[in-house]
Amino acid sequence: MFTTNATVFKNYINGEWVRSSGDHNFQSVNPANKKDIVGVFQASNRQDVDRAMEAARQAFPIWANTPLSKRADVLLKAADYLEENLETFATELTREEGKTIGNSRNEILRSAKTFRFYAVEGQTITGETFPNDDPEMSVSTERVPLGVVAVITPWNFPVSIPARKIAPALITGNTVVFKPSSDTPLIACRIIEALHHAGIPKGVINFVTGSASEIGDSLVAHPAIRAITFTGSTSAGVHIHKMASLTTRTQMELGGKNPLIVMDDADVALAVKLTIKGGFSLTGQACTGTSRVIVMERIKESYTRQLIEATRRLKIGDGFTEGVDIGPLANEKQLNNVLKYIQMGEEEGAQLIYGGKRLINEEYRDGFYIEPAIFTDVDPVMRIAREEIFGPVIAVIGARTYDEAIKIANDVDYGLSAAMVTNNLAVAEKFKKDIDAGTVKINRTTTGNLMNAPFGGLKKSSTSTFRESGRIGLDFFTQLKTIYTGY
Ligand code: NAP
Repeated sequence: MFTTNATVFKNYINGEWVRSSGDHNFQSVNPANKKDIVGVFQASNRQDVDRAMEAARQAFPIWANTPLSKRADVLLKAADYLEENLETFATELTREEGKTIGNSRNEILRSAKTFRFYAVEGQTITGETFPNDDPEMSVSTERVPLGVVAVITPWNFPVSIPARKIAPALITGNTVVFKPSSDTPLIACRIIEALHHAGIPKGVINFVTGSASEIGDSLVAHPAIRAITFTGSTSAGVHIHKMASLTTRTQMELGGKNPLIVMDDADVALAVKLTIKGGFSLTGQACTGTSRVIVMERIKESYTRQLIEATRRLKIGDGFTEGVDIGPLANEKQLNNVLKYIQMGEEEGAQLIYGGKRLINEEYRDGFYIEPAIFTDVDPVMRIAREEIFGPVIAVIGARTYDEAIKIANDVDYGLSAAMVTNNLAVAEKFKKDIDAGTVKINRTTTGNLMNAPFGGLKKSSTSTFRESGRIGLDFFTQLKTIYTGY
């Protein structure tokens, strides 16, 4: 279906597509078929980062003073471009990341909507006025942009996560240097293409590809940077947070170990459906993915039996194949990491009652495929119950009471998303208060969040400072000036 005659893609700096000064490249490969090279990208270096920073720094005062409606026009035209190229870009996304084509289409469309949302919402920013005793003085606040913002993103939502960072950054008058995941640079490049096509002035958005080990530190510790908005693993987030200077604002959206609690009175069929969707769609590679199911002992056996039956019906394959539920893992490192945790779970004494094997026959041989895995007899102290795996692995943990379930759910370092299946409103209300999570759901999956609602985690899932998404997602990108005017 695809040629291996891969195109070479460039960085985008100061309004032009340019090669890295070092002239080194790296490849992006298709996780469903590692022989398929999706593209060749610039392995950038410190000089490239410096050039991008300088372009963004110089463009900042001009962009910050560009009329708001003109900034909005750029976002609206970029949204049009993403939609006009929906099929091409969705195909590229599936080819590069592995998710099913339906999920890819949804992601491109959601990214276009995000651009539109901030084009409008960003025009409603206001300040406050403060009454005071001096009849010849007014006091008010004004929101101003920060300056140059670094945007660093993962591969699992390689368009929609950059979109929810870049759009609010730009509409509020900041300029951006964007480093995408080295696993998904092609589809990230299409966002830049959309903004370029929309006529964004030179230097306002800059795009530098390359590995974190080569350019990570020079990017996040650069003196021109005023803010870093990062989504990725907690370990990388901790490192970046430490590297950032005192005057750099940070927003870190990190890992999760999200529980689904299934109460005695739950509709078991619904609980199974939510587990499958939350735990196995996107091949378990969602930060909000369900990875622990804490089930009341009384219904555990029936729940587990139905979960196995439903999992057995799932179709694993290339994201382009009709009816496929689970695509490959996104890269070889992921595959090895997930297999490592499955082995660890068995060694720790949990029971692997379904799946967990790498798929290696004809159809799967050249891709990073794995059977979804279900563990029972999981003790909450085991590493598979505490650490983020980021793959299609479910740990079923028994609990006797609500209190015990909450204790288990909260006894991890993370607090991104949590859900409960119950028909008891009183229990649901209590759960909303007791659970340590930034996103709390009742009778819904742990995954998924609305574009127009705030999103972020507690504990080690987030810096817990500024939320992303929705109107509040604008706050990170502006700061307040308090203005006293005597007259
Ligand atoms: P990752 O390894 O932390 O990488 C994320 C991004 O950060 C990539 O662009 C990576 O570049 C870059 N990076 C890594 N270390 C860096 C450093 N020291 N300095 C600067 N940049 C650095 O995460 P991933 O494997 O791509 O994504 C999976 C993780 O993301 C999971 O932990 C998941 O929970 C988390 N995630 C969180 C959310 C959320 O909203 N909370 C959403 C989605 C995913 P390279 O690609 O070049 O290494």
